Amino acid sequence: MADRSLRGIRLGAQSLQSEEGVVFMERRETIYKCDTCAHTTSLMFAADAEPPQTWECRSCGAEAVLQVDGKSVTPDETDEKVARTHWDMLLERRTIPELEELLEERLAFIRARRGAGADQAQKIGA
Ligand SMILES: [Zn+2]
Repeated sequence: MADRSLRGIRLGAQSLQSEEGVVFMERRETIYKCDTCAHTTSLMFAADAEPPQTWECRSCGAEAVLQVDGKSVTPDETDEKVARTHWDMLLERRTIPELEELLEERLAFIRARRGAGADQAQKIGA
């Protein structure tokens, strides 16, 4: 009986919430190196967060570049990947003349359909 109540106290004392706050909030130091003044800016991000590739240099305000394994990442390459739009992807598959042809086809189709619709409306009106 005494054993049971003791166990109950122990369970209540272990607050899951406070444990989560202390144990699982891992942080990672992220270093940005400025090419302009060679100043390194150090920031703390949550371990599971994706740090931005560039950060404003705290010394001169220029763009400092994220350091991975002691080296600067190449933001241009990765930025292109991130900023790739549907239009960019489309241009990888089709050339502009091809797209113009498709547009022309599509417009002809729409015009034909509109024309048919107009005919119908006239028939109904008459
Ligand atoms: Zn700087």
